[in-house]
Amino acid sequence: YKFKQGLEKSRERFQTEINALMAQYRTVDEDFFEALEEILIGADVGFNTVMELTDELRREAQLKNITETTELRETIIEKMVEIYNRNDALDDEMNMQDDGLTVILVVGVNGVGKTTSIGKLAHRYVSEGKSVMLAAGDTFRAGAINQLQIWGDRVGAEVIRQGEGSDPAAVIFDAVNAAKKRGVDVLLCDTAGRLQNKGNLMNELSKINKVISRVIPDAPHETLLTLDATTGQNALSQAKSFKEVTNVSGIILSKLDGTAKGGIVLAIKNELGIPVKFVGLGEKMDDLQEFHAENYVYGLFA
Ligand code: GDP
Repeated sequence: YKFKQGLEKSRERFQTEINALMAQYRTVDEDFFEALEEILIGADVGFNTVMELTDELRREAQLKNITETTELRETIIEKMVEIYNRNDALDDEMNMQDDGLTVILVVGVNGVGKTTSIGKLAHRYVSEGKSVMLAAGDTFRAGAINQLQIWGDRVGAEVIRQGEGSDPAAVIFDAVNAAKKRGVDVLLCDTAGRLQNKGNLMNELSKINKVISRVIPDAPHETLLTLDATTGQNALSQAKSFKEVTNVSGIILSKLDGTAKGGIVLAIKNELGIPVKFVGLGEKMDDLQEFHAENYVYGLFA
């Protein structure tokens, strides 16, 4: 239900356009496919993904002798899910430790919804009965530490912090040690994301990774990149840059409720090979959903 609500803008736009398309083009021909491609590209599905999708639709239509465009509707949905699930280099599921501490590093540039997403994740794990700790590793942005503290207080998670401008790796090192000592289940680490200086960012993240694995050898268990869905192709290029500087195991796609171009989800997985693990569908604590391609694509159409 939540998923459906959060996708309202995308669904409305998508359905209106697809309905208009089907009304305008009744028979399956090249004009229909070109108009469909335009709609999908307009929805931020991404050029390569759109081409893959429509090529397969053309073949499918020929193979099954489909001549009426309305008959293709269901096939479009199925193909979207299929294409999303095809590129499965990385695990779609979160790598949570059954026994012992799970360390999750959250990266992303300022303003994308990183801190809010950490708060929502903390709420999710606390609701599951886990003990959660937060590490205020974004020591660069003014206010980031306090903002994280507010979330910690709200959801009932202890926040490990130092002053603004302190070394993020030192904060996170402290936090991993504290979490281990106190038998915490999940440690969520905030970081600063200054993409303007890739060299610095790379050094900082590699130092953070190093101090974490000094305490827990196979950690961090997840490195989640937060991307703002409303920024469209910009989000894609941010993801490419982060991929260059660190290992990203999954995406948190925030603000999906704020865009009518929800197709960006498909582009991210397909063009980067990184699974979207969570989507943000609002500003409140429980506005974060696990991402499943089926729910998402059917949410767009149904
Ligand atoms: P950060 O700088 O990356 O830590 O970004 P913040 O967590 O401070 O978020 C920036 C703004 O985006 C805040 O006003 C959040 O309330 C808002 N925001 C974050 N996630 C979502 C979301 O999923 N949906 C909506 N509508 N707003 C969001």
